[in-house]
Amino acid sequence: PVVTRIAPSPTGYMHIGTARTALFSWLYARARGGRFLLRIEDTDRERSTPEATDAILKGMDWLGLDYDGEAISQFARADRHREVAEEMLEKGDAYKCFSTQDEIQAFRDAAKAEGKSTLFRSPWRDADPSTHPDAPYVIRVKAPLDGETVIDDQVQGKVTIKNNQLDDMIVLRSDGTPTYMLAVVVDDHDMGVTHVIRGDDHLNNAARQMLVYNAMGWPLPVYAHIPLIFGPDGKKLSKRHGATGVEEYQMMGYPAAGMRNYLARLGWSHGDDEFFTDAQAMEWFDFDGCGKSPSRFDFKKLENLCGQHIAAMDDAALLQELEAFLAATDAKPLTDAQRDGMARGMYCLKERAKTFPELIEKAHFILTDRPITPDEKSAKNLDTVSRGILNELTPQLQNASWDRDALEGIVAQTAEAHDTKLGKLAGPLRAALAGRSVTPSVFDMMLVLGKDETISRLQDAAA
Ligand code: GLU
Repeated sequence: PVVTRIAPSPTGYMHIGTARTALFSWLYARARGGRFLLRIEDTDRERSTPEATDAILKGMDWLGLDYDGEAISQFARADRHREVAEEMLEKGDAYKCFSTQDEIQAFRDAAKAEGKSTLFRSPWRDADPSTHPDAPYVIRVKAPLDGETVIDDQVQGKVTIKNNQLDDMIVLRSDGTPTYMLAVVVDDHDMGVTHVIRGDDHLNNAARQMLVYNAMGWPLPVYAHIPLIFGPDGKKLSKRHGATGVEEYQMMGYPAAGMRNYLARLGWSHGDDEFFTDAQAMEWFDFDGCGKSPSRFDFKKLENLCGQHIAAMDDAALLQELEAFLAATDAKPLTDAQRDGMARGMYCLKERAKTFPELIEKAHFILTDRPITPDEKSAKNLDTVSRGILNELTPQLQNASWDRDALEGIVAQTAEAHDTKLGKLAGPLRAALAGRSVTPSVFDMMLVLGKDETISRLQDAAA
């Protein structure tokens, strides 16, 4: 069975690159009936605050990336990491190195002066343990001195690294704490991870991490190193391009399904398909579709996809997510009446809205109460003539059966009687019903508001 994971280091927020790695790992596992795990790489004690971990959990939750079991703390597993280091030591695959920082520096300076490789070669690698001093030491893994290591990567292809480029990396520090390079391998092995999907900034680490797998006789995971996300200008994505944190996108009100769709398209493609559902992404996602060059973040495309997802979403689900958005942004929750109105109106609100704030703006006519105060722009549509027309409309509407055809008929007739276009009446009607100039169609608003409320608003405006 397939087991994937994400292993973020808590940095205080969840980077969209991490979110994308999580998404790929989730898609891959879920489509294959496998497991998707979360490990918090919280060994850096200064940065690993509960808040920083929380930011990751919240990001995962918002994106709907459910993981199996509990989130695992890497730090809590330090004893196990030490145990593995000791085992490698006993088997002779690792050794105690007593070289001090000064000695290592002196080695490097000398190597540089002689034009040789500055890769540190510890004199303790083959030392007789009886010659070991009673001094602090680190544990290093023995890297092969010649030959080459081949990473058979699902995205990058076969990547060959000469073993003489690999140093004897430290697995246990002199204070007895495990290094990241050890911990990541031990944890992945113990968690049964079969596929390691991560950014290609970890590609070189893979060659070094393989030393531990080999020393322990553990099967290697399948590696898939995906290219990083760049900004529109082709430079590594950073703050200056716009938001880089998942939470910022949540706060801007993008629907999670649109975000997932967009993130899936960052570095992966399936023919010409741009808009797709989770089910399709699961069915289609594979490493073959992952590109080898960095993808560029395209804010327009994100918005476009989000708009399509809002339009395609089930009304009830959309309303639920909108309410979650209000809660996340500490906005006032909907009243029961507002919720009912939104539920009735969702069919027209969701047209052409790309974000929840846009949807809320369109719902202004539902969320606001009488008397409606028109904003400056829409107030201009309420002059003496238009007030007179509104006055004329109300008795006719009073007697109308409340359906679209009837309403359109009445408004069209009234327009004709005044020798004006239907469109000319839209402005005053919008002002009366919503107090805004950009709204859903006036007929949709009338249908959603119902007869009594519509007529009251028209009378208010005409008065
Ligand atoms: N903790 C690493 C990071 O945040 C992830 C390493 C991995 O996925 O193996 O970059």
